[in-house]
Amino acid sequence: MREIDKIVGFELTENFERFNQMNDIFTRAFWDEEIKSSDTEAFFNSYRSGFVAKRAEGFNQKDFALRNASWLISDLISNRNASSGIREGFQAYIQNDTSVAENKITVENERQQSKEVKRVAKLFGADLVGITSVDERWHYSHRVDTTNFEPVDNELPKGCNKVIVMAHAMDYDLVETYPSALAGASSGREYSHEAAICMQLAAYIRGLGYEAIASMNDTALVIPYAIKAGLGEYGRNQMVITPEYGPRVRFSKIFTSLPLEIDYPKSLGIKEYCNSCTKCASACPPKALPFGEPDEKTDSVSTIKGVKKWSANCEKCFGYWAKIRTDCAICMRVCPFNRTYNSFTDKLWRWLATSSFRKVAIFWEERGRSRKRLKPSQWWS
Ligand code: SF4
Ligand code: SF4
Repeated sequence: MREIDKIVGFELTENFERFNQMNDIFTRAFWDEEIKSSDTEAFFNSYRSGFVAKRAEGFNQKDFALRNASWLISDLISNRNASSGIREGFQAYIQNDTSVAENKITVENERQQSKEVKRVAKLFGADLVGITSVDERWHYSHRVDTTNFEPVDNELPKGCNKVIVMAHAMDYDLVETYPSALAGASSGREYSHEAAICMQLAAYIRGLGYEAIASMNDTALVIPYAIKAGLGEYGRNQMVITPEYGPRVRFSKIFTSLPLEIDYPKSLGIKEYCNSCTKCASACPPKALPFGEPDEKTDSVSTIKGVKKWSANCEKCFGYWAKIRTDCAICMRVCPFNRTYNSFTDKLWRWLATSSFRKVAIFWEERGRSRKRLKPSQWWS
């Protein structure tokens, strides 16, 4: 195992295969009879005007209206070329809206260039930024043509050898209302933000004379890249847990040929906490998360093969989303690392949780902190 894989926390075995995006659970919902159902159809329709408002708190018309409005910018980008099979940001990278400048700037100091890129990313609205090198093991073996749901080549322009990974923090109070259609606005808002931010940063880099491809969930698995870029550690809930926001982030990325200094994965002590905690697995309604040690279980085609890690049962997880007609992130909400870190007590807890005093942090979390879901009516009031 490469040293870097050890730190990333994904142990690759001889069974490793690059993941084919055709097997992503959201893509399967369009072609795989095992996944397609009246619930999955109603789930996708609910993101258009076809939502059926309920009397239950958090699922009223205003909750769906807010969630769907929050997705608007992301939807505009992903739909603009979908009829040509290119669903940008999800099943294909975002097409360049500007061309690469004819003159290249000269990069004499890669460290300084990385600092400038991070500064510009933050100016556009990114909350965290890390840079790493391209590792094609994490790229989809095939992407998906969304006109016929057939696999097609997944190629990047030549010369893109660095990846800029950006984290976008979700709204704490909205996340506290999961599960609800209202809470889904915390995802939609970040997808819309990240679409704009990664497109703007990519346009800036093209203006410097280098290739830059803006990417959201398309092209490659972003979790290994976020960890490789030093933004966080992998948790039992299958999310990257960052020191700044816990698991309450979404990620976008840019593949570029701009010469940049890279960051490295960090051992933060978060994985050790997960070894002694099963809060997310216990709270998951369909029991889709594992309680045991990381393994290379491959009982679902939606799980990457040959990687020893904590893996969810995607069929159970997405089945629950479809049933409630919105995304679920209970496993994000209940995670002890999901805090604002604005207070001294949150910062003290994080220090304890990631140090040899971990047991004190676990005791404090279990006995001392109220972790009740915020009622959607409280959020609105
Ligand atoms: S809830 Fe506990 S086990 Fe799950 S990701 Fe958070 S810290 Fe890890
Ligand atoms: S998103 Fe919801 S259903 Fe899926 S693993 Fe997390 S808690 Fe379970």
